[in-house]
Amino acid sequence: MSRFLSEKYKKLDAYVPGEQPKDKKYIKLNTNELPYGPSPEVLKCITENDISDLNLYPDPNCTDLVTIIAKHLKVKPENIMLTNGSDDALNFSFMAFCDKNTGAAFPDLTYGFYSVFANLNGIDYLEIPLEDDFTVDVNKYVNLGRTIFIANPNAPTGIALTLDKIRFILDNNKDNVVIVDEAYVDFGGESATRLIDKYDNLLVIQTFSKSKALAGGRLGYAVGCAELIKDLNLLRFSTNPYNIDRLTLKIGVETIKSIKYYERCCEFVMDGRKILTEELEDMGFVVLPSKTNFVFAKFPGIDGESIYLKLKERGILVRHFKNERIKDFNRISIGNGKEIATLIDTLKEIIGELK
Ligand SMILES: *Cc1c(COP(=O)(O)O)cnc(C)c1O
Repeated sequence: MSRFLSEKYKKLDAYVPGEQPKDKKYIKLNTNELPYGPSPEVLKCITENDISDLNLYPDPNCTDLVTIIAKHLKVKPENIMLTNGSDDALNFSFMAFCDKNTGAAFPDLTYGFYSVFANLNGIDYLEIPLEDDFTVDVNKYVNLGRTIFIANPNAPTGIALTLDKIRFILDNNKDNVVIVDEAYVDFGGESATRLIDKYDNLLVIQTFSKSKALAGGRLGYAVGCAELIKDLNLLRFSTNPYNIDRLTLKIGVETIKSIKYYERCCEFVMDGRKILTEELEDMGFVVLPSKTNFVFAKFPGIDGESIYLKLKERGILVRHFKNERIKDFNRISIGNGKEIATLIDTLKEIIGELK
């Protein structure tokens, strides 16, 4: 830390991304990327002309991409704002909709970035404990007087809330914005985007990073009533109006055009999830019911970190969190068929050694 850093940032604890080690080739099951690459159409869509146009700024309104996403979601273009990864949409939401004296609320076990963004923006936050079975009890989300952030399905647990429960939270917090983070919704969840006409306090955030094989392209978006989107655009145009680069705008359009390919990929992931869950349970693991492209699993009597370290030694990366409540667990992304098979064989060896 230099002696020049602003007082207000000196205590900031930054988000720690999943490790991306370069020392050897790992089977990467630690950051929930899609195990398949972009569609054949996307692979071909960037031409030499596109690259030579990079001397020109991109369209700050992102018209083509906003239009095709709106059509895909059956909403209007004024209901959407694109961001550089959905993390940016989350940060803008903390900036725009949380006041210092009321603050934010979210579950105690959820996406680690929420508390980071709250701290970054000087926003007080309330962490509401998940139940013992790691589900959300929506009765704890009544008239909170705070802006609510809820990942649905949740991470790292993988557990989803039904749309009825989301509606319950919206109905019981009419004077606060409820932000529903749907990073994993395409793997079996129910999206709240179809509720935006009924609720002026609903903002849905989605990403191309997980189900659209585009974590490296950095593309996300917020969906909500036109007024909420206008508020977010006020902040976007006050920070970086050119937040999506020309190549990603074009790739985004091709991604939606070849949506069938991505839907098939999600089917493969859900099939893999079923196989992996059954194999893990046969071995003796406890696996939470997942609607995402990862499973959250523990082996009774063996601590999570030992399993994580043994897997890493053998070239497989998963995500372990040191938080007391979940330290027995590991979050394991659903890989392709071969990766799942290797994972299962390796875990059988490891559990045999550690038991
Ligand atoms: C991965 C993830 C995101 C956002 O990722 P981006 O790459 O910034 O779009 C948001 N929320 C949750 C819960 C996630 O797991």
